[in-house]
This record gives sequence, C-alpha cells and structure tokens, in this order.
Amino acid sequence: MKIVVYSSKKVNRHPTTAHLQYDISSFAECNTTSDLKLQFLEIHLDKTTLALAAGYDAVCIFVNDVCDAEVLEGLAKLGVKYIALRCAGFNNVDLESASRFGLQVVRVPAYSPDAVAEFAVGMIMTIVRKYHKSYTRVREGNFLLDGLLGFNLKGKTIGIIGTGKIGLLTGKILSRGFESNVIAYDLYHNDQAAEYGITYVDSLEEMLGKSDIVSLHCPLMESTKYMMNEKTLGQMKKGAYLINTSRGALIDSHALIGALKTGHLGAVGLDVYEGESAYFFADGSSKIIYDDNFARLLSFYNVFVSGHQAFLTVEALKNIADTTIDNLETLARGGVCQNVVKHNI
Ligand code: NAD
Repeated sequence: MKIVVYSSKKVNRHPTTAHLQYDISSFAECNTTSDLKLQFLEIHLDKTTLALAAGYDAVCIFVNDVCDAEVLEGLAKLGVKYIALRCAGFNNVDLESASRFGLQVVRVPAYSPDAVAEFAVGMIMTIVRKYHKSYTRVREGNFLLDGLLGFNLKGKTIGIIGTGKIGLLTGKILSRGFESNVIAYDLYHNDQAAEYGITYVDSLEEMLGKSDIVSLHCPLMESTKYMMNEKTLGQMKKGAYLINTSRGALIDSHALIGALKTGHLGAVGLDVYEGESAYFFADGSSKIIYDDNFARLLSFYNVFVSGHQAFLTVEALKNIADTTIDNLETLARGGVCQNVVKHNI
C-alpha cells in the first residue's frame, strides 16, 4: 500500500533537540517491518493539494487538513481508498461524503489521553499562577510580584464538560491531586467518575453557574459547535476561568472576546482556536494575522494561547504512529479495522 502523509513535520537531527522530532521519525521507527510505502509531505491537504495524492492508495492526515466533500470527491477520482487520521477527532472529515465516495476513514481513538489531560491541568496552573508572565519578567531582570497573584486550586470548584477519556483523567488529577471539587456535565455518565472523585450535575447551566474554572473536553460536532456562546459564557460565574484543549469551534470567539472585554471572565487558556488551520503548526512570526478575532484574543493580558500542543509527547507520537501503521496494515490485507470511523457513529 502506498500512503501520502500530509502535514508531516521534518526530521530534526540536532543532538540537543532530537527529542523534538515529529511524525517522520516516529513513523520511521514504527514502520520497520510492514510493506507500507510512506511519502511525507509538509503541506496541508486541501482542494489545491489533493492532486499530490495521485497514485496513492491512502492519505494520512492530521487535525487541520481539509477533508470536505470537494476534497473527498477529488481523492476518490484519483483512486484513493482510505483516509487515515493520525488523531482522535474527525470533525475535519465529511463522513457522509466519505461514505458516498467509497472512502474508508480510520483514526487513532486514544493515543495518550494522559498527554492532553496533563497539559490541560498545566494550562490551568499557568493561567491561575501566571508562570508565563513570571518567566518573561524574570528574564528581563524584573522580580516584582505585582500582577502575579493567583489562588489555590484546593477546594475550588472545577467543571469538566465531557467525561470521556481525557475529561475523566483531567478531573482525576484535579480531584485526587489538588483536592479540588470536580463537577462534570456529560450527556452520558462514566462509571469511573465517582471512583475518580468527580460528581455529575444535571445540566450545563448548573455546572457553569457553580464552577470557578471550566475545562472543555467534548468533541466538536454539529451539536457542540459554539456550545460556549454569549448565553452560556454569561452563565459562568463572574471572574471564572475557561480552558479549551479540545476543539476551537466549541467556543464562539466573538462572544468570548465580549466576555473578556466586560471582565466577566477572569482568564482564558486556549490550546485550540476555531480558525487555527490558517496559523497553527507553522512559523508565522514574520506574517500578518488577518483574523481579527484571533489577534484580539492574543492581545488580552489574561488569555494564554498555545498552538494545539496538548497531544505532543514522546509517548503520544509513538502511539499515533503505531496505531496508524496498524490501521493501514489491517486495511492493506483486507482485514476489519477496529478504528474505522463510520458516518452517524
Ligand atoms: P471521548 O470520545 O473519549 O470523550 C468525549 C466525551 O464528550 C464523551 O464522554 C461524550 O459523551 C461527551 N460529549 C459529547 N457531546 C457532549 C455534549 N454536548 N455535552 C457534554 N459532553 C458531551 O474523547 P476524548 O478522547 O476524551 O477527547 C476529547 C476531545 O479532545 C476530542 O474530541 C478532541 O477534539 C480533543 N483532543 C485534543 C487534543 C489536543 O492536542 N489539544 C488531543 C486529543 C484530543
């Protein structure tokens, strides 16, 4: 099977930063025995780059590659049969169209929930205790503590939206590690929640009204797009903190800016942004940001943004490569892949 891997990062062989290597090296280490032929491309998949998939059986993509109806139709016409996501979320793939054009979609359902949960907790600590501000301040010889006042997480109420693999672990760390009062909202209750010290509330509104910090961990779907909007942001406690390590479009950015400008929200941590595909995973340091909402969010003193980094651990990259290779090998020999994503799942 021949696979073209879009949005792949270059190998970095510098001895002191070799641990920062991305997909190419992790895939090379995992793909030692299979007959899969992988061609790595740095560019994203979209309608302008799909022609590069000519002659390949599968395309392997990441979170910001575009797989809408137009791209899927184009890929099918080129003879591509499989879409292998090297991530858990599949909101960027039009599953209905994939099914219509006879393309099978596979993903990596859980490569390291711990990686994202630990990052989410780190992000909470960052905006609460302001590590990022003290780092830059001290490097400039400023040892003043003004503006660095935080609060203890012990005893604070932290609301988790979505208690799947990542939300559950995030709640566990906060409850068992920090002795926070962790409450959760989910359409389905997870049996392990009580064991991890997490208590469900009956409604999103109740959770938002009670929480000092809210952390988002549900997937992006039609039903969850902009779940944090003017109304629901308004239901949060005044001065509450909001964290999003899930998907950008769970939050209406315009409404978020409004809630920050009125001072309704105390601080915000974002690892994801609804328009991130135009900026993330690339060096834009000498480019203009044309997305005014994004630029405005970056300008707030109390907003911390990272570039979709929560997944990025050695362990997660290895698991992504292992599972993707396994998915593709199964498809190549005509087997039934456990990680197929079906329309209407
Ligand atoms: P999961 O499928 O295990 O859990 C998702 C949970 O959300 C489920 O319990 C589900 O019932 C719940 N849910 C669905 N709709 C809901 C709603 N309307 N209200 C409340 N809860 C709802 O997923 P996971 O592995 O925990 O991952 C969660 C999300 O994290 C993924 O969808 C992905 O978008 C994101 N993610 C981000 C990164 C990153 O690097 N930032 C990495 C991996 C995953």
